[in-house]
This record gives sequence, structure tokens and C-alpha cells, in this order.
Amino acid sequence: MKYHELKTPSYIVQEGELIKNLKILNRVQREAGCKVLLAEKAFSMFRVYPLIADYLAGTTASGIYEARLAHEEFGSAVNPHPENHVFEPAFKPDEMIELCGIADHLYFNSLAQLEAHRHVWEPYEKAGKMKIALRINPEHSTQEGHAIYDPCGPGSRLGIRRSKIPERLPAGVSGLHFHTLCEQGLNPLIETFRSVEENFAPFLEEAEWINLGGGHHITRDDYDVEGLIAFIKEIKEKWHVDVYLEPGEAIALNAGTLITRVLDIVETSDLPTLILDASAACHMPDVLEMPYTPPLFKALASRGGTESAPEPCDEGVWVRLASRTCLAGDVIGIYRLPALPKIGDILTFGDMAIYSMVKNNTFNGMALPDIVLERDLEDEDRFELVKRFGYEDFKGRLS
Ligand SMILES: *Cc1c(COP(=O)(O)O)cnc(C)c1O
Repeated sequence: MKYHELKTPSYIVQEGELIKNLKILNRVQREAGCKVLLAEKAFSMFRVYPLIADYLAGTTASGIYEARLAHEEFGSAVNPHPENHVFEPAFKPDEMIELCGIADHLYFNSLAQLEAHRHVWEPYEKAGKMKIALRINPEHSTQEGHAIYDPCGPGSRLGIRRSKIPERLPAGVSGLHFHTLCEQGLNPLIETFRSVEENFAPFLEEAEWINLGGGHHITRDDYDVEGLIAFIKEIKEKWHVDVYLEPGEAIALNAGTLITRVLDIVETSDLPTLILDASAACHMPDVLEMPYTPPLFKALASRGGTESAPEPCDEGVWVRLASRTCLAGDVIGIYRLPALPKIGDILTFGDMAIYSMVKNNTFNGMALPDIVLERDLEDEDRFELVKRFGYEDFKGRLS
């Protein structure tokens, strides 16, 4: 397809940007001698799993369907036997049986869970087909602001605390896992690891491998990639462990857009408000959940969606971008644009590959956006319609 043939709303994933990210992550793998996994919960567009498999060692799943999706779709000629890791705060007995047939690394969130499922996983572990880790809670918070993304916060159910770990790692457990970061650089990782060294040293001595979780913004321009490589080498040498990273965001950071059309412009008590065919509530839930104001191409400035009207500006106009659902708070943000758009114009939101299609929904009977792959080609016909959703997708999950 050509650009002008695309429908709105559509998520467009740029293959070229994805490859740029994958090359950086692959370099970390090669130069640090570690393994990098795709955290599927951030990005599960399996049309590009074979491409991702060319660069990364495998996947990490947060639930049985993600594990199954990786089993069915992840892999390539370059990487025919990718790793399939699974962490869940609690596994269900019937799922454990299925997981043992498709996964190769399982992470338990408590000793009770480890033991409850031992009779299922242990034969696989003894046969060398499964590796088992415990998720620990370093109780060292490095985040401010986004409490819902902080597994070290008070009352967190994620990970076993130092005081609850036995003297020695239980039989069959060879790995340790922590995941505590969110969109962070190298220093919070180092700081967290230092606290793990201080509080969990006996287990690091015993462990054969460690997974440093996700939340590393490795593909962001200002990330210290050299420093990360040096740090992983240091961990490997000091503790004699294999090292895994499992970023989600970093894989498809800034590798996708969401295009939407202006359907109407209404005057409100303060600002012109554009009604779009994309919805924050349905198509970019993190905008409301995190919350954040997504980047908009060509915008001169932006502000949070619920703030009152900003000052008049010298250049451009402030507008509120909102959706056509009935939810009053379904506002994407307040943006200063070079000029007031016209009805029918297309607006493009940035960084819409991650935590977008994996979280969207059909609230209000809204259609789901198309999923489009923009191939890394000069050709005008470089847009491939990967998936179009319809009424059946809405109806099918309701009864
Ligand atoms: C969410 C999550 C990830 C990926 O996090 P990103 O912030 O997308 O990099 C990795 N591991 C675990 C256990 C997670 O819960």
C-alpha cells in the first residue's frame, strides 16, 4: 500500500527504526557476552518476530498466551531455537503442565509457588530441559513518580524479600531474577545491583545465571551503552554467572506511530478541541494510566491533557486533542501546533509501537486501529497492511 491508501486510525511500525534498535541490542549481546530477550508484554506484533529473532536470543512472557505465541511465532533461520522464559506472580496448575512443554526457563515469585509446582517442573529440570529461577525483591527503589511501575514500592507483591529467602537456594533453582526499573538509564541498574550484591551475596555465589529484568532504555539516544557492556562483563567475571536482560520498551522504542484523522473541531470554554478518530482510552491506554502526553509530530509544545488552558502563544495555536468516545477524560493532551488543523487532516503520534496494541480495547464500540508495517524500502508501496480488525473482533469477546 501507499501512504495515502492507509486508513485511520492505524498503528504503523517502522521496520528501519526497529532494526536500528535491534542492532544496538545485538551489539550488547555480542560485546558483553549476555543474552537479550524481548519482553512480549510491551510489543507482541508477531509479524516481526522472525526479524527480532535474527538479533535477540529469545522472549520473556508474562502469561501463558505470550509463552505460546513465542513458541509458535518467534524464531528464524539465524535463530532456530530461541529461548522461551516465563515469569508469573502465580502459575495455575494446568498452565504449568502446558508451560513445561513449551518454555525453557521459569521464574517463581515465591517459595510456595516453587514447591507447589515442583512435581511438574522438576522432571524437566532434571532432564536438562528447564532452568528455574527465583524472582527477588531488592527492596531498593530507584523510581520517582510512577508508583504503579515500581516493584520495590511498599506492599509490592513482586519478588521474594531478603528476609524470606532460605539459607541456600532450594534444590533445582539455578537462577536469580530481579525487575525493578522503568524507562531508566544505567546508573539505577548499577545502584540496584550493588544492593543485590550487598543483600543477596550468598545466592549470587550459588547462582549460575541472573536476569536483570527490563526497564533499561538501552536504545534511547542518551543511554550509556558502553557502560552497560562494561558493567555486564564485570558481573560475569565477579560472580561467574550468565547474564540476561529482558527489555520490552527498548526493542521498539520510537519505532511506531499512530495516525489519526481530525473529525471535528469544537469550541470549548478555553481551547479549540479537536475530536480525533483515535482514543487515548481505547488505543493508547498508557496515556491515561501512566499518565503521559505522547509526542505528536510537528507539535511545537505540549502539556498534560487535564491542565487548564495555557498562555496564548506568539507562534502557532494551542489545541486540545481528544477522542470521540463518551469518556469526558478521553483527552490525549494539549499541544501547540503551527496552525489550526482542518477537518480531515491526519495527525501522527510518535512512539506508539510499545504498550499500545498490546493494551488496546474496543470500549464504546470503537474499532481497533489497523496494524501496518512500513518496510525499510524506498518504494512508495512500502506499507504492508498486517491486520485489519472488524466488528467480529468486538463482538467475539463479549459473549
Ligand atoms: C514489564 C517487564 C519487563 C519489560 O519492561 P520494559 O519497561 O518494557 O522494558 C521485563 N521483565 C518483567 C518481569 C516485566 O514485568
